[in-house]
Amino acid sequence: MHFTEVLSDVDALIGGPAPVAPRPAVLGRLAGLAALSLAVLFAGCAPSEHRGTEGRSFVLVSVDTLNRSALEAFERGAGERPALDRFAGESVRLLDAHSTASWTLPAHASLLTGLYPDRHGTTDPRHRLAAGVPTLAAALSGAGYETVGWTEGGYLSERFGLGAGFELYEKNERASRGVFGKAIDFLRRRPARSRPFFLFLHTFQVHDYYKARPRVVERLPADAELGNVGRFQDCLQGRSACEPADWRTMRDLYRIEVDLLDAAFGQLLAALAESGHEDRTFVILISDHGEGLDPERGRTHHAGRLHEDQIRIPALIRGPGVEARDLRMPVSLVDLMPTILDLAGVASPAELDGVSLAPALEGGDSPGPRPLFALEHAFWWPDGQRKKSHSPRHRAISIAVIENGLWYVGGPRGDQVYDVRSDPRQSRNLAAESERLRALRRLARQRRLLKVEPSIRSQDRETESELRSLGYL
Ligand SMILES: [Zn+2]
Repeated sequence: MHFTEVLSDVDALIGGPAPVAPRPAVLGRLAGLAALSLAVLFAGCAPSEHRGTEGRSFVLVSVDTLNRSALEAFERGAGERPALDRFAGESVRLLDAHSTASWTLPAHASLLTGLYPDRHGTTDPRHRLAAGVPTLAAALSGAGYETVGWTEGGYLSERFGLGAGFELYEKNERASRGVFGKAIDFLRRRPARSRPFFLFLHTFQVHDYYKARPRVVERLPADAELGNVGRFQDCLQGRSACEPADWRTMRDLYRIEVDLLDAAFGQLLAALAESGHEDRTFVILISDHGEGLDPERGRTHHAGRLHEDQIRIPALIRGPGVEARDLRMPVSLVDLMPTILDLAGVASPAELDGVSLAPALEGGDSPGPRPLFALEHAFWWPDGQRKKSHSPRHRAISIAVIENGLWYVGGPRGDQVYDVRSDPRQSRNLAAESERLRALRRLARQRRLLKVEPSIRSQDRETESELRSLGYL
């Protein structure tokens, strides 16, 4: 079958609702694939040789929608921020890190399972992580770790299944000290000699910039205009047009949220330093995807596009035995689970899509060349407006393949190929002349269909209203 069938599938969808569930023949094929992938999953994987892994703890901070270009460590001129800048100076900077999706649910499922979306199956707002998919938290918990997750809900709420394997997994209100306050209290309470921990923090602080919170508005430049604040989300999703002044205000709001994040993150690091755990604790700061604030180029908001402004993410790792430096090799969110397990000396419970970066972090070999992927199953942008699929899909709407300096996107807009070495902002589509087009399409085709039967979540009023407030419904 040809990859363009993905596109005709989208056309059919626009014309009318797609089937709610895969057809029986497809289900049979899915079941076969699921059995195959489970057999591979439980083959297991031993950690590489490390010294002194015992008792290492981990703090994994996911800042939802944090642009790579928002941090001075990744883009000069982004603006100084004391805590984030100091932390970046003490960390390995992963200069070419990628997400696996451009919205929260599939990207976080990849982070916490080490699998691409076609294998974790958490690809639609109506899905939850299927029971039985091995998770990072479960593997660490099984190895004696205390596993704690504090999130700000939305797609990270318990209902979507991402709390699987955590001993404690709680949703916090997006107010006051939020998840950082919880983590600070946890570190302060903790005896210096206690079992190792895995602390996962997720915050929507930056994501929600368009809501213009009072404490952000009071920091706006004096000449900023808040005229269309109620319509910012509509403008971001292409449902109405905002003035250039509105876009300037949105960029200011976003920048101020990152400033406030800096303060909270700094308090967390200070608490870690005072706790007596710092010398045995890895701190990892990442984002799940970026945010487009560029209406001139049609690159606004997130979900539904797989360009660099969405998929390239900031990633910083600080910890014992890891010298601050830059690593330039392409890496993916799926690499985080195998890396953390390797650093912890815990065997991987499954054959994962990612690879361990631990040897590279400790000054050894980098992973060899391999294609990286990003997938989209639920959103797309016909006519400059973001739309959501009527029903869950077993075929990807669009797929990106990042390989050897080339960035391929196949989807409703046809084939796109960018040479990101000479054109990092992806302005010139070389699909018509690229000799690699066929090979890139072939790679994309391998990930086109879901390899697991997705798990449909139950719906409730609270979750739907929360997703609406986050701009997803
Ligand atoms: Zn997100």
